[in-house]
Amino acid sequence: MCEDPAFSHEELHLSKAKRIGLMGGTFDPIHQGHLVTAEAVRSRFDLDKVVFVPSGQPPHKAGQIITGKEKRFLMTELATVTNPYFEVSRVEMDRPGASYAIDTVLYFRRLLEPGSEIYFITGADAILEIITWKDVDRLFENCTFIAATRPGYDLSAMERIVRQQLKPGYLQKIIPIEVTAMAISSTDIRRRVAEGRTIKYLLPEPVEYYINKNDLYLDQT
Ligand code: ATP
Ligand code: MG
Repeated sequence: MCEDPAFSHEELHLSKAKRIGLMGGTFDPIHQGHLVTAEAVRSRFDLDKVVFVPSGQPPHKAGQIITGKEKRFLMTELATVTNPYFEVSRVEMDRPGASYAIDTVLYFRRLLEPGSEIYFITGADAILEIITWKDVDRLFENCTFIAATRPGYDLSAMERIVRQQLKPGYLQKIIPIEVTAMAISSTDIRRRVAEGRTIKYLLPEPVEYYINKNDLYLDQT
């Protein structure tokens, strides 16, 4: 286990985990698209755990209004509590400065037994943002990417950019997986709340109650 005292507050149940998925996101709010994707990848790749990692300061969302991190963390806890394979980590929230995938992957490398497998789960829309970020070579050395697509989603732009700007060999470390169609996004949920439209069944009920109780997303401009 990690002996870094800075992270000793983490109470993740990972002691026996050898194959883990990491699902990073703003989770503002978490919704069924995230959950269905995480569960599909867990089952398909026989993962011991999927750890949801709410971001602290997403580098690509600078300038946008984002709900406070403790509220986003709580919504993620509420949404995942019924799945024994799911955990939620505070590591990005408690790290000062912008949240980068590489720092998170290396944190879990230190936490897990040597030789463990780390799968970084992203939606097909987000894969390019992540692999064109900081320390891409170290990222590819330390994890495999799972790019969740919707049926019919075209990954050719991603493949072209990896071939041209990164290394063609990296394509073997990006595994596309089709997940059940999920045209759900946090942006759409926030907009629906602001417009007084229903969000029922787009996200777990406790998260819906939490949003209502805390008056989240009422004024989205
Ligand atoms: P926003 O609309 O605010 O950007 P989002 O719905 O895209 O929110 P994020 O928290 O930005 O959610 O996404 C976290 C991760 O989940 C990203 O890798 C994203 O691609 C993926 N993801 C989001 N929605 C879906 C979905 N419906 N199906 C599959 N993956 C998704
Ligand atoms: Mg997004």
